[in-house]
Amino acid sequence: MQAITKNNNYEAIVEDYTHEGMGIVKIEGYPIFLPDVLKGEVVNFKAIKVNSKYAFGKVLDVLKESPNRQTPPCEYYFECGGCQIQVMNDAEQASFKKQVVHQNINQQARLNLKINDTVTGDSLYYRNKSQIPVQKIDGKVIMGFYKSRSHDIVDIEHCYIQKNVHNDIMMFIKDKLIEEDTSIYDELTHTGLLRHIVIRSNSDDSEIQVVFITKSKRNEFLSITKALKTKFPNVKSVVQNINDEKTNVIFGKRSIVITGQDYITDTLLGKTFKIRDRSFYQVNHAQTEKLYQIGLDMANLSGNETIIDTYSGIGTIGLAASDRVSKIVGIEIVDSAVEDAIENAKLNGIDNAEYHLGKAEEVMPALVDEGISADVVFVDPPRKGCHTQFLDALVEVSPKKIVYISCNPSTLQRDMKYLERHGFKAKEVTPVDLFPQTKHIEAVTVLENTNTL
Ligand code: SAH
Repeated sequence: MQAITKNNNYEAIVEDYTHEGMGIVKIEGYPIFLPDVLKGEVVNFKAIKVNSKYAFGKVLDVLKESPNRQTPPCEYYFECGGCQIQVMNDAEQASFKKQVVHQNINQQARLNLKINDTVTGDSLYYRNKSQIPVQKIDGKVIMGFYKSRSHDIVDIEHCYIQKNVHNDIMMFIKDKLIEEDTSIYDELTHTGLLRHIVIRSNSDDSEIQVVFITKSKRNEFLSITKALKTKFPNVKSVVQNINDEKTNVIFGKRSIVITGQDYITDTLLGKTFKIRDRSFYQVNHAQTEKLYQIGLDMANLSGNETIIDTYSGIGTIGLAASDRVSKIVGIEIVDSAVEDAIENAKLNGIDNAEYHLGKAEEVMPALVDEGISADVVFVDPPRKGCHTQFLDALVEVSPKKIVYISCNPSTLQRDMKYLERHGFKAKEVTPVDLFPQTKHIEAVTVLENTNTL
């Protein structure tokens, strides 16, 4: 029997947060999840979805407010799915993120490690990449971001987490699309042209790329591009990417340059990187520099080491370490990223880097068979974390240190636990906030090899 009944109202105190940033209240030990409440608040809520082990509720009233509650800076916050924790002030967001890392590392994996305070930074106007879906509804062009768990777009004029120049460009393009009556893609009928606009800028906004993602290769963007370049001279690259599939994946496989180069360049920890439209590049530049610097400091490199940069993307982490290592071996699954990494090494005059194309879980065992040895391995996987086949090979390489950078504390704790069982021990984990206003959490740690002590 559940302790609560659907559609009834209850009063409770918010005890904790879920990994999604929702508040947890309990009635007779039974947990109910509520959006947009802060720890310590007393709330009145209605039970709206009641399952056997937990329920979801709708907040009717906050009877006692937390001093850390803030009015969301963004007027679209309660509608838009892009942000989840704008009701928390910066301090509360930092403490929420630290707590989620703590729950994962110390309660789930029981690793009993020190969790450092979240490394924070500017909490607004930080995103250097905006992926903006475009729709036409009743003849009106709609551009913005999806509502949570939906493909309905909230039509927005200003996003507080993307860089402000992206807001200017977004609105400029919208006006032009209306003026030119550009054909817009319709998801349901799979007809029409323009699906998404992607805007990406480098750290000082001196180079900006705009991508029109379209269903076919028909180019209706020449005059918009011309106007865009006149109004925003820092737009150095305009690309059309073609995606003719019925899919949620934003980018298609083919890109055509409309004007300028097919890339922009950015500087990260003193090195220059070329970034193409489909390449992975961290969205928060200032915080990424802090994150990678912490990782490099943890590696404590002397200059003679061989490092393996796994999940290397366009080569950022390894190349940032290049002044302090004798050899870099990169592993990455996306071929264009490997091409970029090779080119980025050259661009920075680095000749001691080699890159292997393939799945880390396949390339790493192959390198072990070839007898590779490495002093430090950097691990920076996507959200799903590492394959055990990769971890087994990593254990066999037996580096002195593993620096693990993670965008998902839940797979981080799973992988750390596995590595700990194989003799790799960490002392501390540091959360770094790369995604303020959202539930997303980045963390970095170093695991030392106790097998060789
Ligand atoms: N270290 C880079 C990229 C990190 S993102 C940076 O900081 O910029 C994770 C990267 O892992 C992406 O480039 C993605 O293409 C790659 N990837 C995903 N699954 C992989 C796998 N199984 N093996 C190797 N690389 C993978």
